[in-house]
Amino acid sequence: MSHGGDTIFGKIIRREIPATIVYETESVLAFRDIAPQAPTHIVVIPKEPIVSLAHSTPEHRGVLGDLMLAVAEIARQEGLEDGGYRVVTNIGRHGGQTVFHLHLHLLGGRDLSWPPG
Ligand code: 5GP
Repeated sequence: MSHGGDTIFGKIIRREIPATIVYETESVLAFRDIAPQAPTHIVVIPKEPIVSLAHSTPEHRGVLGDLMLAVAEIARQEGLEDGGYRVVTNIGRHGGQTVFHLHLHLLGGRDLSWPPG
């Protein structure tokens, strides 16, 4: 099975462009965001190129679970658990999605305002 669609994240999965990878399993990859919005800002993606959460189906149940558990594990690894953190996935135009490969943003290390802009 080929991993990674035709997005910048597909290129990161295939190691065609560099990224600071902080976590990897058979199904999940996580790396530091190139334009961090918080002291810790990590992008967590499935290796399978799902376009967004809106494009997920019941067949993705396993990998979606892997993603959520990976975020919690990475937050522990990054020392964010005590202070807390936020997990965000942007979908489509109103969501502000710019890369069309499903990803969870893990943000922490400062107070995050709510509601988001
Ligand atoms: P979105 O706007 O789609 O929710 O999030 C895409 C995220 O990917 C943005 O936070 C953006 O900074 C990050 N990003 C875009 N291109 C690259 C890249 O080449 N490398 C890394 N590490 N992050 C990227």
